[in-house]
Amino acid sequence: MITTEKGTKILLDCGLFQGIQTDEFNQKFGFKPAEVNYLILSHAHIDHSGLIPRLVRQGFSGPIYCTAATADLCKIMLMDSAHIQEQDLERINKRRQKQGRPLLEGLYNTEDAQRAITLFKTVKYGETFHLGENREIAVFLTDAAHLLGSAAVHLSIPDKGTFKQVTFTGDIGRPDDRILRKPDVFPQADIIISESTYGDRLHEKEVDMKGHLLKIVRETCVENKGKLIIPAFAIDRTQELIYALDQLSSAGLLPQIPVYIDSPLAINATRIMKEHDECFNPEILEYIEKDGDAFAFPYLNYVSDVNDSKAINDKKEPCIIISSSGMAEAGRIKHHIKNNIGDSNSTILLVGYASANTLAGALKRGDKHVNIFGENFEVKCHVASMDSFSGHGDYNEMIAFLACQTPDRVQKVFLVHGEYETQVAFKLKLEAEGYKNIHIPALYENVEI
Ligand SMILES: [Zn+2]
Repeated sequence: MITTEKGTKILLDCGLFQGIQTDEFNQKFGFKPAEVNYLILSHAHIDHSGLIPRLVRQGFSGPIYCTAATADLCKIMLMDSAHIQEQDLERINKRRQKQGRPLLEGLYNTEDAQRAITLFKTVKYGETFHLGENREIAVFLTDAAHLLGSAAVHLSIPDKGTFKQVTFTGDIGRPDDRILRKPDVFPQADIIISESTYGDRLHEKEVDMKGHLLKIVRETCVENKGKLIIPAFAIDRTQELIYALDQLSSAGLLPQIPVYIDSPLAINATRIMKEHDECFNPEILEYIEKDGDAFAFPYLNYVSDVNDSKAINDKKEPCIIISSSGMAEAGRIKHHIKNNIGDSNSTILLVGYASANTLAGALKRGDKHVNIFGENFEVKCHVASMDSFSGHGDYNEMIAFLACQTPDRVQKVFLVHGEYETQVAFKLKLEAEGYKNIHIPALYENVEI
């Protein structure tokens, strides 16, 4: 959060901590939500937007600025997050009630999420809007190419008779995204708040992602006559896969087998993506011009109804099932994995980042036994992975994103969003580029700029 000299409070993103033992961080903001005047949201990922309903529940009532695509994605994601929390809470409280322990209160519910959604105000990339009592703060967003609608935020804030230019990168995307445009350049900043997720690594460059995918499809579904199960994030990874399969289908290369997109969230996200082709790169726009639709081809089935999802399990013929969640920790994908993990003809294909403590993480690591719904399963199916899917730039791509800046003129850089060791590694990389005064803030730390 930025507090200006006049006392205006601007919050940049409001994400949910995910994973084990994060309850305390999610409970405590470290500031009073009712005192925050504005929220500017870089993109819709839950680790950037997932606490907005809690912020609203605790008294925030100001506008939330973001792009139209981000607002549309947030509508489905925040409701989905609220549903998950309500379900989790119900389960926990049922147990506590039996044990005679006091019931817990959730972070937020669907009503809070609905209220939050009414506060969104959309702006276009490059369009300047003003905040503050006298509209003294100028803000605009530029495309960060990380997720549909994702943005870097640029603020011009009056400070001691002059203006301080502050840039918050949000999450930094990649220059060769299959669907999104390249990231925009932006004007010189005095202060940069940068993400650093992959600050210590380089992505493998997959020269032929579609060829690799096709090889796995053929081996699993044609040669072994098995099922290909792909856990994928409902937003972005799923659409990248559909687009790749669409291209293979159009080229006459894809075997004629059913492909199931088994996730209501992914179905909604695909609809929203189609509505926001202003974020698309020229290649996919050209493809849509010819093909008509980058997310529809023969044998592709979008499965919304839960009974239809269950019915896929009874089908014996080869097929491809793409379902969420990406780390296989929740959602329908867990059922598909459970039903096929013992089948030596089937393959689970991992296409995204997976934390070590998740089911996808265990499979990626090559564990021979995994736990699903409290039961132990032997991994008899094949496990494959493709590393070419990532929404985050690696350190070279992040440095390229910042290449529009003259490092000498940046007074201070703050590194956020990354493991501490990674941040230290990225700090050294940035210093080698000529950046100085690079600070890795601690949680709840206050800094004067
Ligand atoms: Zn993100």
